[in-house]
Amino acid sequence: MISPLLIDPFGRHVSYLRVSVTDRCDFRCVYCMAENMNFLPRADLLTLEELDRMCSAFIAQGVKKLRLTGGEPLVRKGIMTLVESLSRHLKSGALDELTLTTNGSQLAKYAIDLAKHGVKRINVSVDTLDAAKFKQITRWGELAKVLDGIKAAQAAGIHVKINAVALKGVNEFEIPDMIRWCHSQNMDFTLIETMPLGDIDGDRTDQYLPLSQVRAALMDNFTLEDIPYKTGGPARYVRVKETGGKLGFITPLTHNFCESCNRVRLTCTGTLYMCLGQDDAADLRHALRASESDDLLNTAIAEAISRKPKGHDFIIDRNHQKPAVARHMSVTGG
Ligand code: SAM
Ligand code: SF4
Repeated sequence: MISPLLIDPFGRHVSYLRVSVTDRCDFRCVYCMAENMNFLPRADLLTLEELDRMCSAFIAQGVKKLRLTGGEPLVRKGIMTLVESLSRHLKSGALDELTLTTNGSQLAKYAIDLAKHGVKRINVSVDTLDAAKFKQITRWGELAKVLDGIKAAQAAGIHVKINAVALKGVNEFEIPDMIRWCHSQNMDFTLIETMPLGDIDGDRTDQYLPLSQVRAALMDNFTLEDIPYKTGGPARYVRVKETGGKLGFITPLTHNFCESCNRVRLTCTGTLYMCLGQDDAADLRHALRASESDDLLNTAIAEAISRKPKGHDFIIDRNHQKPAVARHMSVTGG
């Protein structure tokens, strides 16, 4: 049952909470961060207990799906304590799914524990299968480690989906090979357009590759069949006839997906963003800390949801050099 607190002014039910448990990361992907990032002071972060209380308040109101993200969620100290404590909501049936989005660097270490605590599916971000290019894109990442992590997750029985940001002239011509690799390993594959979030060292116009263009090019190699498959996210899926696997497209720029938006995003400092592409936010940390009961927190959540905007207005072109919103993707999570 979704409580009326989680129904927005456009009648959309908010049933999905994404939580950025840290803004820190062990990679510095070129489209996501500048190399010298200023991270939040540790003292500003919600403790693991506070993160648990926040998530539990949303679950009590009817949130059914929870995704931990970041920054890199698996670099947050003590993260398995949080995963373990949140898993009680899976056991009780209050939560349908506990999942995460990760760069995979720490997966080999945590895969078995994640599976043990009820994590059944995860998204791993891999933009290229070329080790040198991987280093170029992530600046600090190591492809071999990520691939080991993916194997460990699969061996632990976790279903892996691969996400890749489509980057003009970087992984553009590798996409058919990535599709074949993912599908041969029983992994779905989703392509994402670069979104104008936060200042990076370069110019996003140079990175932006419209997925409409990618899709048209893929038709030379593959037969793409539209399918109604939905994961509760913004991706639109096709089945690739030649491989039998699923391919998703997340196209915030070429196709606006806001009309079916069912999610809100919580940062590691307790700020709730009602839309990835807008600056409006609500400070839930204050309400959380003001009282031991959840009444103030629930009022603050309801007030925030009543301000959920209809949609974003991302634009990337040479006339719009500034990011649509100042914060980086690592603040609100992907
Ligand atoms: N560190 C984890 C990871 O990379 O999977 C989780 C956080 S990361 C911010 C989540 C997703 O957002 C990743 O798939 C990443 O590629 C994507 N991402 C980051 N910055 C982006 C941007 N400006 N536009 C589009 N996708 C972006
Ligand atoms: Fe880190 Fe993920 Fe951003 Fe890459 S995309 S820098 S892995 S948060």
